[in-house]
Amino acid sequence: MPAVKKKILFVVMDGLGDRGCKVLGGMTPLQATPTPNLDWFAENGSSGMMDIIAPGVRPGSDTAHLSLLGYDPYEVYTGRGPFEAAGVGMTVMPGDVAFRCNFSTVDENYEVTDRRAGRIKAPETTELAKAVSGMKINGVEILVKEGTEHRAALLLRGKKLNPDITDADPHDIGPVAVSTGKNKKGEFTASIINEFVRRSYEIMKDHPVNLERRERGLPEANILLPRGAGSFPKIKPFTDKNAISGACVAGVAMINGICGICGLDIIGLPRECAGNIDTDMIKKADVVLETLKEYDFVLMNIKAPDISGHDGKAEQKCEVVGRLDEMVGHLRKNMPENLVIVFTADHCTSSDVGDHTGDPVPVTIYTEAIVKDEATEFSESGCAKGSIGRIRGYDLLPICIDLANRSEKFGA
Ligand code: ZN
Ligand code: ZN
Repeated sequence: MPAVKKKILFVVMDGLGDRGCKVLGGMTPLQATPTPNLDWFAENGSSGMMDIIAPGVRPGSDTAHLSLLGYDPYEVYTGRGPFEAAGVGMTVMPGDVAFRCNFSTVDENYEVTDRRAGRIKAPETTELAKAVSGMKINGVEILVKEGTEHRAALLLRGKKLNPDITDADPHDIGPVAVSTGKNKKGEFTASIINEFVRRSYEIMKDHPVNLERRERGLPEANILLPRGAGSFPKIKPFTDKNAISGACVAGVAMINGICGICGLDIIGLPRECAGNIDTDMIKKADVVLETLKEYDFVLMNIKAPDISGHDGKAEQKCEVVGRLDEMVGHLRKNMPENLVIVFTADHCTSSDVGDHTGDPVPVTIYTEAIVKDEATEFSESGCAKGSIGRIRGYDLLPICIDLANRSEKFGA
C-alpha cells in the first residue's frame, strides 16, 4: 500500500525565542506563559532545538526564512540589492539588477551635503519614489519604491544588464560618484545609473515635497544615490526543488518578498491580519487552513513576538505568546488530517537586548504516528529534551518532506 502523501504547515512565530528576562525573574516569555496548546503538540510530537543559520550566527528575518525554506543562505544570499527590493514588496524577476538607495541632499554642484536628507521618511518618500518610478532609459525600465526611513530600493529591468558596477553613492559628503563598469559588461548598466541619478535630481529638486521641506528649513531629498548592485539570485524555485507546491501567508512585505524570490505563491490577507502587534491571529489561521486546501506546503509568519522583543517589552511578549497559543488551539481544532505541522521561530529576539540573537530556537513537529519523545513543554528548555536534538534551519524542510511521505529514496 503506498503511503499517504501529507501536506506540510510551518507556523513561524517571528522572533519568538528569547533569553532569560530580568522582569520575568530570569525566565523567557515562553517559559513564563502558560501555553497548553503548544505544549499539547510538544507532548504528542517530536521536538528539538534549531540553529537557523549556524551556531552563534544572528539571523536576519530574510536569511532565516531562506534557511527555513531549505536553502543554504551562504549560497543564495548574494548581494543585498535584490533582497532589499523584495523586502519592500517589489517583485524581483530573473535578469533584474537591484540596488539599495538613499534619498540624499545635494547642492547645485552635485555635492552631497546630507546622505540621508535629514532622515526623511514616509509618506514624503512615498511621494518622491512615485515621481521617479516608471521611467525608461535606453530601453531599461526603472522602478523605485521607498523603504524604511531615508532608504529606497531600485530595480532596473531590461536587456544586457550587469551588476558589476561601482556605486553612485559616495558613502560620504562630497561630490556624487560617477558609476563605472568594473569590467566591459558593466559599462551599459553604469551609464543607465548615472543618467537615472541625474534625472532623479531634475525630477525631485522642485517637487512639492521638497518645496515644503525648503520652507520648513529641512534638508531636501533631491537626489537618489544607488549602491550595492546585485542581480537576481540563482535560486532553484521551491516547487522544482522539492516537487511540492508552496504558498506563504505573512503580513510583512519582507517575508512575502523572500518567499516570492523562492517561488512561493503569496496569499493576500485582510488588513486586520497585517504584521503588527494587534494582528488578528485567528483570522490569519483561517486563511492558512483555506490555503492548505490548495497547496502542499504553507509557511505562516506571525510578526508580533519579534516586535515586542525589539521594543524590549518582555511582559508584552508574554501576552503575545498567550494569544499565539489560542491561535494554535484554533489550528489544533480545525487542522486537516494528513498534515505535518511545525511550530518554530525564525530566530530569537531577546527582550533584554532588543535585537536578534544567535541562540537556537525551539521546534516541535507533529503528525499522526510521529514518535513521541520526552519533551512535554514548548519552550527553549522544554524542546531541548526532545529527540530531534540540535539541527540547522535548512534541515527542517527535508525532515518534514520525509514525514509527509514525499522524499526520494537515496540508493537502492
Ligand atoms: Zn524574524
Ligand atoms: Zn526582528
